Amino acid sequence: MPQDKKVLLRISNLKQYFPLKKRGLFVKANDGISLDIYEGEVFGLVGESGCGKSTLGRTLLQLYRQTDGRTMYYGRTLDDVAPKYMLNTIRNLDRKRAEIKTKEARRDELQKAYDGMTEEQRYAKHAELDAAKKAANDALLDVANLIGGLMTVEDLKPVAAAFEKNYDLALRRRNLREKRAALQVRRDDRAFENKDVSADDAKLKEIDEQLKTLDQEIQVSLDAIEQLRAPYLNDPEFQKFDALRDDGIDLARLEYNEIRLLRQDLQIVFQDPYSSLNPRMTIGQIIGEGLMAHNIYRKNNARMQEYILKVMDDCGLQPYFLHRFPHQFSGGQRQRISIARALAVNPKFVVCDEAVSALDVSIQSQIINLLQDLREKQDLTYLFITHDLSVVKYISDRIGVMYLGNMVELAESDAIFTNPMHPYTQALIAAIPTTDPDASKELQILEGDIPSPVNPPKGCKFHTRCRYCTDICKHIVPEWRELEPKHFVACHHPLFGDGKFDTQA
Ligand code: SF4
Repeated sequence: MPQDKKVLLRISNLKQYFPLKKRGLFVKANDGISLDIYEGEVFGLVGESGCGKSTLGRTLLQLYRQTDGRTMYYGRTLDDVAPKYMLNTIRNLDRKRAEIKTKEARRDELQKAYDGMTEEQRYAKHAELDAAKKAANDALLDVANLIGGLMTVEDLKPVAAAFEKNYDLALRRRNLREKRAALQVRRDDRAFENKDVSADDAKLKEIDEQLKTLDQEIQVSLDAIEQLRAPYLNDPEFQKFDALRDDGIDLARLEYNEIRLLRQDLQIVFQDPYSSLNPRMTIGQIIGEGLMAHNIYRKNNARMQEYILKVMDDCGLQPYFLHRFPHQFSGGQRQRISIARALAVNPKFVVCDEAVSALDVSIQSQIINLLQDLREKQDLTYLFITHDLSVVKYISDRIGVMYLGNMVELAESDAIFTNPMHPYTQALIAAIPTTDPDASKELQILEGDIPSPVNPPKGCKFHTRCRYCTDICKHIVPEWRELEPKHFVACHHPLFGDGKFDTQA
């Protein structure tokens, strides 16, 4: 993993519930997941079937609209996208400021009552207090970029006006950049066909000048905002807001055309190499579809074909495959096609959703090696989802273990195998078969069925299958704690490497 870790995606308290026909019932596929994914890393996500791993991968990419929580993306800046939700927040600063005060008051009131309760009474109030804390925090985060705590309603007016001006400029710049990109593609096509491009070059130059002026205007508007904030900088309450400043793009709040801009950065390779490729399209068309959708190429011409052949070559596909159809290929080759399709648009982040699970073991290692090579060449970040711990061991920098919609353990890859602290992770590792005759461990199969995600067990969701379960596990959701550096566990009684059982909740 890179040393200077820069967060690419930050997921906070992500929830994805699917409604059932019977009113009021939901499948809680993801039930409050928080996670940072760093630029350039491979993050392995494991768990039994039905634990919500694939849902998490798809929700991250906003293929499903998430039920709750934040999914922040740092691969581009807020000014690059100029999302509409920013404008709504700017225009409602007064109301949002009042909302923070109300929610903080509610949280404090509940906390006070909770502190005076007995242990038994607290069991019933715990969830309500958690929800109030989250609501207060969300309200703060919503506007932390924009206001300082001390500002009066009068102070807010010029700040809001300055932000709105900055937003308008950023939006103009985004539109101009899109226009320039389309023009560049047209110019390159004409140059490829040996046509005169002087008129295109002149237009491009003109747009570049306009962009330069806009950049300067944006800088002036940002300086103006800083000046308005300056008088408050040393105030503790202002600093409370300032510490929460977050310049990421909240994917869940983007509109259709805004998320479409980012689709190019965020790609997916599906599990099933049969149903995920359109049987009526040739390999060239399959790979080219995304290129045209994102205006990387304008039409299916010789220049685009040259690029597709290069991508195919990178993914170990022969040039003569170009005009063939998916049914003419084996599973491994199809998966290479899916990878080529995802990588052709130059993404930054790729979800590999059980990308090797449908393949033979020998082909699995070929595909994993291919993914590793491409990652180094193209500086990619992967979320590698699988139910097979032994697969994820070799490719991942860090591993997260999921159970019934929640993350239960997260650590660097080695630490998960040498020092698993959550009883569920231990059980998964004990269930990996080995061919080593000297291995002393006995194969242990995790007993019991995974409970229903519609009505999951209260407290720790694993308590119905856990041999270390105590009374507190049945009532209180275990906190997500960093028990060793970079090693997080959600368990009241985490286990340590030598088999010691920590009874300190
Ligand atoms: Fe087992 Fe309790 Fe830990 Fe849950 S919190 S995994 S039931 S010991």
